Amino acid sequence: MNLPDMIEARKRTSKRVEHIDLDINLKDVFKGKKYFLRTYGCQMNVHDSEEIRYYLESLGYTNTEELEAADIVVLNTCAIRENAHDKVFGYLGRCKHLKQTKKDLIIAIGGCMSQEVSVVEEIKTKHPYVDIVFGTHNIHDLPKMILNANHKQDIEVFSCEGDVYENIKYNRDSKITAWVNIMYGCDKFCTYCIVPYTRGKQRSRKLDKIVEEVKKLKEEGYQEVTLLGQNVNAYGKDLDEGYDFADLLESVAKTNIPRIRFVTSHPWDFTDRMIDLIAKYENVMPYVHLPIQSGNDHILKLMGRRYTKEEYLTLFNKIKDKVKGVSITTDIIVGFPNETESEFEDTLDIVNKCKFDSAFTFIYSPREGTPASKIKDTISLEEKEKRLYKLNELVNKYSLEANKKCLDKVAKVLILGTNEKDDKKLYGYTDTMKLVNVTGDKSLIGRIVDVKITDAKSFSLDGKAL
Ligand code: SAM
Ligand code: SF4
Repeated sequence: MNLPDMIEARKRTSKRVEHIDLDINLKDVFKGKKYFLRTYGCQMNVHDSEEIRYYLESLGYTNTEELEAADIVVLNTCAIRENAHDKVFGYLGRCKHLKQTKKDLIIAIGGCMSQEVSVVEEIKTKHPYVDIVFGTHNIHDLPKMILNANHKQDIEVFSCEGDVYENIKYNRDSKITAWVNIMYGCDKFCTYCIVPYTRGKQRSRKLDKIVEEVKKLKEEGYQEVTLLGQNVNAYGKDLDEGYDFADLLESVAKTNIPRIRFVTSHPWDFTDRMIDLIAKYENVMPYVHLPIQSGNDHILKLMGRRYTKEEYLTLFNKIKDKVKGVSITTDIIVGFPNETESEFEDTLDIVNKCKFDSAFTFIYSPREGTPASKIKDTISLEEKEKRLYKLNELVNKYSLEANKKCLDKVAKVLILGTNEKDDKKLYGYTDTMKLVNVTGDKSLIGRIVDVKITDAKSFSLDGKAL
């Protein structure tokens, strides 16, 4: 048994990161059995679930969307805010109930929540029917843990700085767009954020391995890759190779894969060369997700974000000036401990200045073990909810404004599939990452097509394939 440890998770030593080739061969011993996989949280978790899916399907399990039909339930969890916790523990209740009638059911919990000391303690004491707890550093141990499952709780969570695993296999959700990890972990330690503790130190993959993966995806017919990292602009800084994110972006662009995106960019490490490359290469999409978090310098300082409102604005305007038609989205937190009304108004002010194409907005959620969670907060939840509402109204107004600018124009849309609610309609994304519901033939799925935009709403566009 290995239990998580916050002190270990916080450590950053000069220990060399190992780049290890995985070699996992699995037999389909569970043929005829079914798995139920539920993913919470960010793109990183969605991509990790593609690795988990590979292991489950290689062991012979087939997918079910019905919890009651499952022989194994895997919950890939998120720790970023308290409501993510609540959802998982709520779901566990259903699993417990099911296990009472289905004794051989295996219940496994992975992801960022498994890396938290208090969560694992709670699972140990209050949820003994959970069979397997695995962490973000050892997803590849899951098959072994499943094969050894014997009704005794097995917890294998490592709070290490972490290594880089290569040769990871994925059963990807899509045949059109693919996630590509370029780095793991984070060393920014924003004071409110749990990620540096749950995901370990920043570890970049080698450039040639990433390019090799993208080339393979292109050969398989993928139209789009999204380069993934908590902080992609800092790519390469932890390697002694002399290359950075701009070098990687250029090498990936030269593979000629039709579309390249990347998330997430921290304003701190955004270089001019990166901006020039986004402008230069047609297959690097004119879309940047650039979290600001707050528009007030004092709050930004308390958050440990390392830039001022003015510096963010300068970068924002530089990207807007250099990259034609670029869309920029952001993340914003309201109600950081003791944020005053006037500090919140600075956030509204930057939204008014930037007129973001869209924004993910959150109420600050204290995360145990982070520096911000130790600050005594005097602002009520009611007040924070009011601020969030006000912020969302403003953000939505600008999203609608940005979308309306697309009206009657022709956009290039990568068609991903049929609309969930209306299977006669298709959906896809513009190069600027705007969702479009498209009238057109199903044969267009997987292709980048010209679409005339006929209607604009706050969160999507309507259009007709030409
Ligand atoms: N690495 C990315 C960055 O720095 O921009 C984002 C990672 S995090 C998964 C996504 C977003 O969650 C953050 O940008 C932040 O707005 C939000 N977030 C992180 N910790 C939070 C907390 N304790 N409470 C509320 N929102 C939080
Ligand atoms: Fe969290 Fe900050 Fe790292 Fe993003 S950059 S993952 S917000 S610590």
